[in-house]
Amino acid sequence: MRTDRRGVLRAGAMAVAGAAAGLGTIPRARAATPGSTVGPVGTPALALARLKAGNAAWVASRAVHPDSSAARRREVSTHQEPFAVVFSCIDSRVPPELVFDQGLGDLMVVRTAAHTADGLVTGSLEYGPAELGAQLLVVLGHQCCGAVTAAVNSFRTGERLPGHLADIVHDLRAPYEEVRRTTPAEGLVEAVIRAQTRQTVARLRKDALLRPLLAAGRLEVVGGYYSLDTGEVGFG
Ligand SMILES: [Zn+2]
Repeated sequence: MRTDRRGVLRAGAMAVAGAAAGLGTIPRARAATPGSTVGPVGTPALALARLKAGNAAWVASRAVHPDSSAARRREVSTHQEPFAVVFSCIDSRVPPELVFDQGLGDLMVVRTAAHTADGLVTGSLEYGPAELGAQLLVVLGHQCCGAVTAAVNSFRTGERLPGHLADIVHDLRAPYEEVRRTTPAEGLVEAVIRAQTRQTVARLRKDALLRPLLAAGRLEVVGGYYSLDTGEVGFG
């Protein structure tokens, strides 16, 4: 089944790339759009440096919004090679392309409430590194996460959230249990946010498709925390 599924995924990647390609043979990015900061990346460390530089520009209100021109749109119309995957929250105040100052074809973004994940979501996270050569996967938590706040309230009061919101709460049980005994009540939400990011990074580092890429130095998985106050992403 895995072979069949991966075959389908690869066929999709080939269609996107516009060329017959397997892992590691998908064409590298073409020459960057004039004025663009985007080109071949090379290593996970360089990919992280690019995101840090973009975030620094965002923090300083010097964002250049690269790769958003009509020329860039044409450049990536037949292939894509996102250099990083960002797994972040649905929160309207934390759009990854803006806070990292990136453009078309640069990032593959997966967003769920408090970056909770099931099999479908994990498959989407695997896709960029395993099929398109993305070299960095950033798990991005953020200050004052509403989903985590709602989950902590639910755990404290026993009140069940309606519909599939309960699934989100269920997924946040593990980080809550990790920190609840050692954290003062007033700091519990922030502690769960950071624990959720730590646990997600740890889980993805053990992922069957991602682990070999990590071992080969072709991928890094890192956690980040976005400050709503300053716009800054702290890593580590
Ligand atoms: Zn959130």
